Amino acid sequence: MPDSERTRALLTDRRSRISSAPSSSPLGGSPVAATEFDRIFDCIMPLRNPTRPVAVGDCVLGGGNAIAVQSMAATRTQDVAATLRQVELLEAAGADIVRIAVDSRKDVEALALISEQANVPISVDLQENYRLAELVAPHVQKIRYNPGHLHHHEKSRSVRDKVAFIAEVAGSSDSAIRIGVNCGSVDPDQLGRFEPEDSISPMVSSALEHCDLLDRMGFTRYCVSLKDSDPNKVIDANKRFAAQRPEVPLHLGVTEAGMPPDGIIKTRVAFEQLISCGVGDTIRVSLTLPFEDKGEEIRVGRGILEDIAAGRFRSVPRFESRGLNIISCPSCSRVENEAFIDLAHNVREVTGYARDHSITIAVMGCRVNGPGETDDADLGLWCAPTFVNLKRGPDLIGKFSYDEVLDRLKDEVDDSIAAR
Ligand code: SF4
Repeated sequence: MPDSERTRALLTDRRSRISSAPSSSPLGGSPVAATEFDRIFDCIMPLRNPTRPVAVGDCVLGGGNAIAVQSMAATRTQDVAATLRQVELLEAAGADIVRIAVDSRKDVEALALISEQANVPISVDLQENYRLAELVAPHVQKIRYNPGHLHHHEKSRSVRDKVAFIAEVAGSSDSAIRIGVNCGSVDPDQLGRFEPEDSISPMVSSALEHCDLLDRMGFTRYCVSLKDSDPNKVIDANKRFAAQRPEVPLHLGVTEAGMPPDGIIKTRVAFEQLISCGVGDTIRVSLTLPFEDKGEEIRVGRGILEDIAAGRFRSVPRFESRGLNIISCPSCSRVENEAFIDLAHNVREVTGYARDHSITIAVMGCRVNGPGETDDADLGLWCAPTFVNLKRGPDLIGKFSYDEVLDRLKDEVDDSIAAR
């Protein structure tokens, strides 16, 4: 077939696939006028991967549906009023799904009250206690579990059995599952199979292993996420996974992206690179924000999708991190001290003088993910209830009060600059 005919056939096929898909948001399947389609096709060719549809309440991920935009409440779940306020802020900003963390029976009791009043599908972030899935499932539309966290409780029980338990309760409660792999808490068995400098292969391998487990159990209502704070690793991990399992819907996100504007830039780079080659069915923008600004994560996500749909690309092909790079988690129910948000913003202010030096500083809110996710940074801070752990790479420098830690951090930044 001549090239021109092949191109026309491809174009017609893409147009019919996009036009016949069911929804109307950017990159979904709204009926697209031919001229408009041609313009979009010429600009970005966003042929979505042929993922299978996964229903999360009335929001369907994949299957040609619009890319869903979601986020997570950054509150203690047991503070029902505060969590409901964040759900309301996210709903008002247009969230398709809202996630809440659960790590105790008291959290589950609060979750039941919150989900009754929510007007969007609720996803739950199951932390280390996988058995809570049984109590959680009746109140939610999706359960996220982290394969790396299934090793902590009941060590004598196999991971396979734990996954079977989660799949069983999800299936009987009409709930979807997300296999959520995170760079800071990768399954230790997977880490042992690859070279230490290769941080992407263990993540991809862990996601594939858990897809295989669920497939063998006959549970296919799942999606996958592979998150890292480095957008280039997010791009590589998701592309590698999508090449092997193109039918599995992907949830995209850059974890601990940090504060605007840097956090938005990192996220945009990853989303532009992935979505423009058809990868991604739902997105989460993860920013460190003041409480009442929570909806900004949704607005930023929608803005990025609209830009991609319109062919407005702002990223360079890869994220070139030059100069000071501050990553910080968005905080969640596990944050150890509410002073964390101010701390993250103050870190950026007091280290501003080092903006031309290639130093990465990670600021994390809790002991669960803080220790692991600061290991790869030049300098790391992770919060405990009354003090902050300051690290250089994987080594602890010391524990400092919230008042003292910034001065000590500046000394360490000065040392880093002097040593280069
Ligand atoms: S580092 Fe801790 S507080 Fe921050 S988002 Fe992750 S789990 Fe939540």
